Amino acid sequence: MSDCLFCKIAAGEIPADKVYEDDQVVVFKDIAPKAEVHLLMIPRQHIASLNELSVEHDVLTSHMMRLLPRLAREQGLEQGFRTIINTGEGGGQEVFHLHLHLMGGDNLPGFN
Ligand code: 5GP
Ligand code: ZN
Repeated sequence: MSDCLFCKIAAGEIPADKVYEDDQVVVFKDIAPKAEVHLLMIPRQHIASLNELSVEHDVLTSHMMRLLPRLAREQGLEQGFRTIINTGEGGGQEVFHLHLHLMGGDNLPGFN
């Protein structure tokens, strides 16, 4: 996906404030944070949204889920955190490369 913003961030072609990366995922700070801590976790592989997930992605998705509490702890979110995945235009998705929002700390927004 040569035209995908998050593929370019994963490849290092567009700068981002990365806090974690491994062979499967990259985690970086949201450019317009909605809470004190607001990270985005993306797979290196281009997957447009939850709609495109299949059984072949099970190892990847499990890895992403299990990384969340570890990253939250590293960000000092001992009291808990919020995870959001927007899917499709109706779900408020703006960037069509799967990403998990990890948010916490002061100013944690509600669902409205
Ligand atoms: P969505 O609405 O698709 O779930 O969330 C997209 C998120 O990506 C938004 O929170 C937005 O602030 C963030 N974002 C958009 N462009 C960039 C960028 O170039 N760099 C970073 N770090 N975040 C971005
Ligand atoms: Zn992509």
